Amino acid sequence: MRRDAATRSPWILHFDTGSCNGCDLEVWALLTPRYDVERFGMVNKANPKHADILLITGPVTRKAEERLVNLYNQTPEPKLVIACGDCASNGVPFFDCYNVCGGVDKVIPVDMYVPGCSCRPEAIMDAVVKGIELWKRKAQEERS
Ligand code: SF4
Repeated sequence: MRRDAATRSPWILHFDTGSCNGCDLEVWALLTPRYDVERFGMVNKANPKHADILLITGPVTRKAEERLVNLYNQTPEPKLVIACGDCASNGVPFFDCYNVCGGVDKVIPVDMYVPGCSCRPEAIMDAVVKGIELWKRKAQEERS
């Protein structure tokens, strides 16, 4: 029942795994009335148990690795993971730092990647809107 309702209103959770905050600013901009993602039914949540879509920014630092895995495991299925920005997509330019695991997909599965340093709110919104369709398909597959 909850899953059926959620396909019309996916809730998102934003997590910074070690970014310079450039991409975080763009994600926060996305959540303002200027971009108005609530028209797609999206609401920003702080609890992974209430989230459907994870928006991850930054390279994954070794300190953030365990927290990211915990957030992922606590998010109910079906879930969608969107890596926002070059750091989250592939760890660049920090991929070979001693304290960095790399991009998000080195730690958890990623469904969509948004390029850019920093990634633009329009690009994140585009990924999210396309991601909602992918996420709906996952929800339907889970039901059948
Ligand atoms: S992609 Fe660029 S703006 Fe985004 S966290 Fe990395 S260095 Fe910062």
